[in-house]
Amino acid sequence: MRTAVVLFTRDLRVHDQPALATACATAEQVVPLFVLDPRLAGRSANRDRFLHQSLADLRATLRGLGGDLLIRRGDPVAETIRLAREVDADGVAISADVSHYARHRQRRLSDECERHRIAYRAFPGLTVVHPGALTPTNGDHYKVFTPYFRAWAGADWRAESAGPARIRLPGGPAVGRLPALPDGESPQAAAGGETAGRRRLHDWLGDLDRYGSSRLDRYGDSHDDLAGDATSRLSPYLRFGCLSPLEVATAAGDGAGPFVRQLCWRDFHYQVANAFPDLATTAYRRGAAEQWRYDADALDAWQTGRTGVPIVDAGMRQLQAQGWMHNRARLITAGYLTKELGLDWRDGLGWFDRWLLDGDLPNNSGNWQWVAGTGNDTRPYRGFNPLRQAHRFDPAGEYVRRWVPELAGVAGAAVHEPWRLPLAVRAGLDYPPPLSDR
Ligand code: FAD
Repeated sequence: MRTAVVLFTRDLRVHDQPALATACATAEQVVPLFVLDPRLAGRSANRDRFLHQSLADLRATLRGLGGDLLIRRGDPVAETIRLAREVDADGVAISADVSHYARHRQRRLSDECERHRIAYRAFPGLTVVHPGALTPTNGDHYKVFTPYFRAWAGADWRAESAGPARIRLPGGPAVGRLPALPDGESPQAAAGGETAGRRRLHDWLGDLDRYGSSRLDRYGDSHDDLAGDATSRLSPYLRFGCLSPLEVATAAGDGAGPFVRQLCWRDFHYQVANAFPDLATTAYRRGAAEQWRYDADALDAWQTGRTGVPIVDAGMRQLQAQGWMHNRARLITAGYLTKELGLDWRDGLGWFDRWLLDGDLPNNSGNWQWVAGTGNDTRPYRGFNPLRQAHRFDPAGEYVRRWVPELAGVAGAAVHEPWRLPLAVRAGLDYPPPLSDR
């Protein structure tokens, strides 16, 4: 092949990037391209900022390899074809994604390539195992996690692709400017980019404590400890493809251990979304009873972390401060919204989507539906008790005091139940009574 255009989407890396690696191995010249698509911008200021940071980092890395990242704005299909014709490309490569929008984009791109006699190829790379690659004997996708995990852990994973040693760009096309870095909404949001993601991965795998064990080694015991904050925080980098999930799973090297099992949850929701692309809007489980309340005040209290239930409010405040929330807190806040307040999971999903750096359709929707009982949970009607969760996963109340400064002066586990404090103490706290008792 003479010249290939690689259209980046949310695979913003050079390590183990099959579309880029194959283009570099088979074409004399390669044109890395990103198209700023106005239809995707503006849903989350946090993610817009993370994306731009990731693009700047990718551009710097590609320049270091002798190439560049070309930036265009508009419809990705029209812009890719325009550039492909300008450089007389004979191939276009992309990483395959699962949402309605992405699949429509892929279909259109494939059709346009065919029309212009350009070879089109979609590559794996957004998950460890490609969605749809594993199917049960009686269906087109796995509906239950455990059998999927068994098949996933036992499957032959694709070989990792080597990063390109050098990229040869054709002369001619303008590289295009990256617009100024947009403001995010969360003051403590992590910064995007493959470089930052690899640093975090390295720390996560490599940082040994004085007993010679890494944070990964302790993950099984510590990942639910809210105050310990002992999870990898790799999710935003996986969301934007700054890290290859396959590389993370392989590098973790704990086979079917607890950390890799969590990565499998990610793949699980992708294969569900691949088979059921309406996951963000429609109950996945057929016959799920959906009788939600719509209460703007209650929703507002939940969103702003003023429900009067400290463990819920702590999670919601962390979300706004960091654009990220601990998984246990996500379970608690989502469970509270849907099972305690009885509000529609779609309203919770939308709020998470606005703030989360890692927010994406398969994982956000799959997890919301799981919690709400409309999704893949095999026990959809299980009860939910935020107080019990609080005492179990934040036994000393540290997580709550960290995120709810109004309660910083309340010692120990008493912070979880401010309504039990003596009246005089309670009166001095600028903190509301529990919403569900109002
Ligand atoms: P770690 O504990 O270090 O786990 C490693 C990786 O495994 C994560 O980075 C993530 O990619 C994956 N993972 C872990 N738990 C899950 C899970 N339950 N489902 C899918 N993948 C998982 N995750 C997202 O990536 N995007 C979302 O939009 C998202 N929305 C969620 C909404 C709700 C209501 C809930 C309950 C969970 C949601 N999750 C989502 C899953 C999970 O909370 C985050 O992936 C995790 O907290 C990220 O932190 P970490 O990287 O430190 O995770």
